[in-house]
Amino acid sequence: MRKVVKFGGSSLASARQFKKVKAIITSDKTRCFVIPSAPGKRDAKDIKVTDLLYQCYEAASTGQSYKRTLSLIRKRFEDIIEGLELSLNLDFEFKKIEENFVKKVGREYAASRGEYLNGIVMAEYLGFPFIDAAEVICFDQDGSFLPEKTNEELRLRLSTVKQAVIPGFYGAKPDGSITTFSRGGSDVTGSLVARAIHADLYENWTDVSGFLVADPRIVDNPAPIGTITYRELRELSYMGASVLHEDSIFPVRKEGIPINIRNTNRPDDPGTMIVENTTKKSPFTITGVAGKKGFCSVIIDKAMMNSEIGFGRKVLEVFEKNNISFEHMPSGIDTMSVLVHQDDFQEKEQAVISGINRAVHPEVVELESDLALIAVVGRSMKANRGTAARIFAALSHARINIKMIDQGSSELNIIIGVANDDFENAIRAIYDIFVTTAL
Ligand code: ASP
Repeated sequence: MRKVVKFGGSSLASARQFKKVKAIITSDKTRCFVIPSAPGKRDAKDIKVTDLLYQCYEAASTGQSYKRTLSLIRKRFEDIIEGLELSLNLDFEFKKIEENFVKKVGREYAASRGEYLNGIVMAEYLGFPFIDAAEVICFDQDGSFLPEKTNEELRLRLSTVKQAVIPGFYGAKPDGSITTFSRGGSDVTGSLVARAIHADLYENWTDVSGFLVADPRIVDNPAPIGTITYRELRELSYMGASVLHEDSIFPVRKEGIPINIRNTNRPDDPGTMIVENTTKKSPFTITGVAGKKGFCSVIIDKAMMNSEIGFGRKVLEVFEKNNISFEHMPSGIDTMSVLVHQDDFQEKEQAVISGINRAVHPEVVELESDLALIAVVGRSMKANRGTAARIFAALSHARINIKMIDQGSSELNIIIGVANDDFENAIRAIYDIFVTTAL
């Protein structure tokens, strides 16, 4: 049994957090490969080391004063080293970093130093070997990530050690220059390491005890999700429930390795298991409910639309030409509507309306703005009668008007459109009918 453990920035923000992390790692001998992020925020007002590094580099590379920010960064690491009573000296590393900043070696190099230095500290603290991600995470000269080459490099390198610390977030191009994944990319590194060593589990340690059935900013103290499938997760993340970097799913999913989201501050909580498939039923029929505001609907009416072959294609082509992706397309006999993101649509609305007029000569094109979409997601919905009825009854009791309904063909989700102003109440009503009443 071998586990890859990734720790996010808030789990490594201070010496106190590092101590919790060490206790977690040493309590389970199968936790053998450790992926650290850079130190994150110690409290709500703090600044992440990665953000300080971006700021510092920006100043250094444009000839402005950067020394104060650099010493703030250094102080963050020195406080951790001191708090852990390590005899580690980062003079050499900081000298090199400063030289490289002045030489303008690149923004991504700058950002990556948070993970690099945190990896050195973590390796020293745990007594594990340190493996620089620049040697094993590979990008091509244009900056595109190379998954297969990386897999091979990681496999070879990690076969020579039993334990190691590999910093997250960055890798290197063939010429050695440093490249990073997008923000939050240490999740991706963890997933790549898990794939390469055929880990039994990828544990992703953060500051929440996994996914929750609903957004805690809307529902008080929502129930946790014990097990979620990759497909359910995709539906919920698309609607804004974010804990993991999107690109971290693919490498482990391909190998059938589950991800366990865990809380560094509550290590006894089981967290959420993300799996390909499961026979475990979710306790509440629904696995989760999430949503987003800011959509609008373009409603097109034309008598005998149903007999006009190619009508839908012509309408959608107008959106395509204007480079607008659509979310849903509910239709009636003589009417169809296309739901789009309001922000993408607004600046192009007149071009779209005239395009539709030219393409299909409708009787009316109407716009409805300020809509919210809510996804009710659950693998158990397929086998349960009355899920939709319960959603609609709950919304009707809460006096919420439903503007759109769409059930995915996999019966994994039901999407509901409501007015932006009804969004929070709708989420609460759906949560109550499935979860509160079941508890
Ligand atoms: N430190 C990087 C960021 O703040 C990467 C990570 O934490 O995953 O985005």
